[in-house]
Amino acid sequence: MSYQEERAYLLDELQTIRQVADQAAIALTNAQNYQSLWRRQEMLRMQNDSLQKTVMRDDLTQLMNRRSLERELEQLSMTAVWTVQSSFSIIVCDIDYFKMVNDEHGHLVGDEVLIELAQRLQGQLRRGTLAYRYGGEEFVIILTDTPLDQAIDVAERLRRAVNNSSMPTRIGDMAVTASFGVAQQSPIFDHSAWDVLQRADKALYDAKRNGRNRVQAVELPLARMKNDGE
Ligand code: GH3
Ligand code: MG
Ligand code: MG
Repeated sequence: MSYQEERAYLLDELQTIRQVADQAAIALTNAQNYQSLWRRQEMLRMQNDSLQKTVMRDDLTQLMNRRSLERELEQLSMTAVWTVQSSFSIIVCDIDYFKMVNDEHGHLVGDEVLIELAQRLQGQLRRGTLAYRYGGEEFVIILTDTPLDQAIDVAERLRRAVNNSSMPTRIGDMAVTASFGVAQQSPIFDHSAWDVLQRADKALYDAKRNGRNRVQAVELPLARMKNDGE
């Protein structure tokens, strides 16, 4: 209106302009409020994400912690996917004679070994494959979409990564070995991912009994499986 020739505005014209300006001001304030609210929400979301990550990781080794493992196993056990998903395998790893490291050299040296071992394990795995600290000196790796023979190869690679070179600690280099148990999911034998973990644990026990620093797997009794199916 101001581009038009100079003239005096009528009172109702001025009132209209005033109303339009008020509406525009409200819309602008709303937009500004919305923007700052959105920024705050975004900041909270990022803080929440990083908090979640901290809660899911183990303080000492920075691997995923036992709670995250439990969550993952629950996910894998959901009945809706249990029978249709392609097989996954679980590797359980336990350091050999670790109590001796602590007893002879102290917990700080033991902790250094745990950190180094955790790095070596994770370093051998593909992006997206996670290693979990399951207990004090026990670790779990879940390999999705991986049959037993391939999982055994991975475990063997992990074993060598632990054993190949000694680990640097505050009291000098230390030779460390670990034992591994491997099991593959079977929708016929297993009812949940916990059953697979239990079988991998049993295999680990065999690896310890058979001399340590080795990979052991529990084969499923295929003959029985076949008979049951008939
Ligand atoms: P094996 O070869 O049969 O596995 O023998 P081991 O001595 O490794 O097994 P055992 O279960 O007897 O010992 C596990 C030890 O792990 C006991 C404890 O001193 C140690 N440990 C557990 N958690 C930690 C930790 O966070 N830091 C340190 N430094 N040691 C830990
Ligand atoms: Mg143990
Ligand atoms: Mg041990």
